[in-house]
Amino acid sequence: MIIRHLLAASAALLAGACALADRLQAEAPTQAPAAPAFPAFAHAPLSPEALLAHVNVLASDEFEGRAPGTNGERLTLDYISRAFAAAGLSPGARNSAGERGWFQEAPLVAATLESAPTLTINGRDGARQYAYATQFSAWTKRIEPHVQVTNAPLVFVGYGINAPELNWNDYEGVDMRGKIAVILINDPDFEAGEDRGFGGRAMTYYGRWTYKFEEAARQHAAGAIIIHETAPAAYPWAVIQSSTGSARWDIVRADRGASRANFEGWINNDVAMETFRRARLDFAELKARAQRRGFRAVRMNMTASLALDTRIEQRTTYNVVGVLPGASGVIASAANRIPGVSDVLPGAVTAAIPGDRSDEYVLYSAHWDHLGRCPAIDGDDICNGALDNATGTAALIELARRAAAEGRARRSMAFIAFTAEEQGLLGALYYRDNPAFPARNTVAAINMDGINSAGPTHDMEIVGHGQSEMDDLIAQALAAQGRRVEPDSTPEHGSFYRSDQLHLAQLGIPVLYTSNGVDMVNGGVERGRALNEAYIANNYHKPSDEVTPEWDMSGGAQDLEALYAVGRGLADGDAWPQWRASSEFRAARAASGR
Ligand SMILES: [Zn+2]
Repeated sequence: MIIRHLLAASAALLAGACALADRLQAEAPTQAPAAPAFPAFAHAPLSPEALLAHVNVLASDEFEGRAPGTNGERLTLDYISRAFAAAGLSPGARNSAGERGWFQEAPLVAATLESAPTLTINGRDGARQYAYATQFSAWTKRIEPHVQVTNAPLVFVGYGINAPELNWNDYEGVDMRGKIAVILINDPDFEAGEDRGFGGRAMTYYGRWTYKFEEAARQHAAGAIIIHETAPAAYPWAVIQSSTGSARWDIVRADRGASRANFEGWINNDVAMETFRRARLDFAELKARAQRRGFRAVRMNMTASLALDTRIEQRTTYNVVGVLPGASGVIASAANRIPGVSDVLPGAVTAAIPGDRSDEYVLYSAHWDHLGRCPAIDGDDICNGALDNATGTAALIELARRAAAEGRARRSMAFIAFTAEEQGLLGALYYRDNPAFPARNTVAAINMDGINSAGPTHDMEIVGHGQSEMDDLIAQALAAQGRRVEPDSTPEHGSFYRSDQLHLAQLGIPVLYTSNGVDMVNGGVERGRALNEAYIANNYHKPSDEVTPEWDMSGGAQDLEALYAVGRGLADGDAWPQWRASSEFRAARAASGR
């Protein structure tokens, strides 16, 4: 209306069409809010320039490392939701009041230590005290302001695994009530050079630290301590230390954490070795025993004491959910779309049109969060998380832009930016329990955590290779690019269980989770491996995970074109990819009703 008025009133006064256009542009904001300005949107969708432009904003110091609950979260949520809207997505979440919007509320509990605790380990030679963060890490999953363990006996439980289906129980014959479990990281055949039921060098879920604490809780242990070793943990102590300074988050559990041990934590390798020496136990020999079936837990004749004073706050953080609604299978163009059928949220959709698959969803996901403020290195205390996972967030936005630019697919395409991944995959865990789209209607999911920023590669790696038919789809997409797929080169890192796809897989949704290839066009496998190792050693979860002048997103953009082809192909078709017969997630798919 204001434009019409302007045209009529001003046309005669303006010298030409250009001036008119300028005038209209200048006047328009007085009526409607300005379209959000995204410099990245000046570039072609999914281009290296567009990706880098998003990363530069999301990983800037202004965003303070994107920790949930901080101003960095507010800025990040604002950025992603505006970008989704500008890309042409519709809001895909409902809030707790049932209103449709961009944000899925995830109520979490944040526990912050009031002061640095001290770990005391007592032996026949007296007591030794250890310093928080540098020598040990500890927290409680209990929603209690004060937990305490006093002179609790230490029991070495090997890998802390109870796997009835493998006839393996490291807790056999030991009552852990009132005691502290001392646990090895990874699983028994990681160093054995052969598969003894735990995937050989590949890590199984039994090797993950999250499992160790869950099992210690099932054993009613008073405390659980994991011994840090860099190789089997797959990361240095600095990674554990980096999360000692900030709040620990969890979803709000029904029992408020009461079923968990009083405390959970890690000790560094020096403290562990000193403790075994003081106990006159041969660590290497015990570890070798723990790697064999029939291992029995060993009382260390040492005790430990620890008290944790925790400030507890319930806070809400947010997943961001956007959707490009599917067009009907028989009415493929947006112009012919029946209003109210193709763009409503699940639950309200009835497949009234033959061939309509708009109530079926293909998901893309990436976690938006990172660590926020972290222990300073060279005066820098912002863990910017440029690679981890500003790149994945940028990819999510650009995939949405690319999809919307191409027009609606037959099925709906959903784009989810998960929160609190770094706190234990909590946004995805919340989604698992409260899915925005029914799992049985979700065709597949493609999760992104770290996009190649080092330049083009001849290959891409599949993390969790062999799990599902998603392997075949990405192989085809790469073949079309003249590239190839490789299985995960470091399955011992257990990466398949270490990002949000785990909780989507637990819903039974076949997931594709790739990582950058190592066979670089410039420098080959040698350079690719060296760059990966350097990132883990120097930048992973450190303030130096920042954009540097060496960054080259051209390989990442190519990777994302392949991921786009997989998702788009599924969204335009009617296939339902399957889990392989050997997959541990196949049963969950059947249970979902699909
Ligand atoms: Zn990540």
